[in-house]
Amino acid sequence: MRKQKCIICGKPLNDGIMIYGRGICKKCEERIINAERETDFYEYYIYCIKKRIAHYMIRGVDYRCQNYPL
Ligand SMILES: [Zn+2]
Repeated sequence: MRKQKCIICGKPLNDGIMIYGRGICKKCEERIINAERETDFYEYYIYCIKKRIAHYMIRGVDYRCQNYPL
């Protein structure tokens, strides 16, 4: 299996949380937990999540369409 990368900082993922199959490293997770909603980092985090997960979900739909006989 290929090693996951953190979607926030892009570093190889050794620990942390997974959201829709996408990883967030422990360090970024802690920054998110401690971040205030108005900070730049929080907004950047939301932007990353939306961008990465939306992309992943669209690809997931394509994958299913190719494999489901209609
Ligand atoms: Zn990270």
